[in-house]
Amino acid sequence: MKVYARREPLLVRPGARFDCVGDGLCCSDIHAVGALTEEDCERLALISEEAVDRYEDGGDAVLMMRSDTGRCVFWTEEGCLIHRRLGPEIKPSPCIQFPYALTATPVGGRISTQHRCTCRTLGPLPPVTAEAARASLLDSEGQLKFEHAVLDEVAWSAGQILSFDEYARREAPLLEALLEGKQLMTVLQAQPFPELEGTTWSDIADELRGFHGSSRAAVVARWFGDALGFLVDRRPRTKQGRPWADSFERAAKRVVDPVSPNVVFGDWLADELWSMRWTRFGSLARARTEWATRLAVARRIAGWLDISDPVRDNVSAAEVVMMVDVISTSEPWEKVQEAMRDS
Ligand code: SF4
Repeated sequence: MKVYARREPLLVRPGARFDCVGDGLCCSDIHAVGALTEEDCERLALISEEAVDRYEDGGDAVLMMRSDTGRCVFWTEEGCLIHRRLGPEIKPSPCIQFPYALTATPVGGRISTQHRCTCRTLGPLPPVTAEAARASLLDSEGQLKFEHAVLDEVAWSAGQILSFDEYARREAPLLEALLEGKQLMTVLQAQPFPELEGTTWSDIADELRGFHGSSRAAVVARWFGDALGFLVDRRPRTKQGRPWADSFERAAKRVVDPVSPNVVFGDWLADELWSMRWTRFGSLARARTEWATRLAVARRIAGWLDISDPVRDNVSAAEVVMMVDVISTSEPWEKVQEAMRDS
């Protein structure tokens, strides 16, 4: 019987929370805000001549970031200018979609959320609902758009392929254990820093430490490279500033009931698991090793940030999750993904 990847019904991961409270983090150079559709570009051209940036190689069009603030040209202290003056539905499609993503599976569309935003990771937030997320996940034709699809064969390990139903049955207790936020390395059952093919962790650390400049992405690369260098070679760290200090300090005021760093890390890993994006690279066993590595780095950086009280502890963990998430889409980390063997 042929199995199809379905977008409906929409499925929400237990425990996922989000509400846009306008911290403005997602409007900064944490990533190029794109890819913009042609429709986005045409609409933006009517609003401003300087809104769209096009890569010279003819690649995707993205929103222009201001060089002085590293933020979108439409960002203001009071929030998004387009949102305020013209309405939320006029915003470019990547802004409408953030932080949601959809994975089509044989039983429906899994809604996952990115953790690159304080509106996702800090303070009291309402549960994600399928109704609220749906509007963000529609394309210009009104269809649900998915970024990734999974069919009926899921690799639990390199040598063990499961049906989707069997995978979901085994995934449920794993999700639950991650959300408990205890003994995360034990839950992952994986060792960080596996052997790489054709490169070494020291080389990756060097490459990340070699990022120059003051963009947030460059600063994060140096944080990550320092932590990696310390963990694999005991290299001394360099001093780096906090790239999103303003947004995190604003968000810190919303934290009334701080949660432990492990709860923040477990929530992030639960979304990594639930999104099933890891199936692009290989088995779940391989993905666990990759997560264990980023978790080890995250804990090292969190230890270097301010941990003077439970609120600071909570904020530092959220800030670090943002860093390791940003690195996961960097060129050096693409090399890591290619160099990791499946197990
Ligand atoms: S258009 Fe608005 S929501 Fe989108 S990145 Fe710019 S300021 Fe943020």
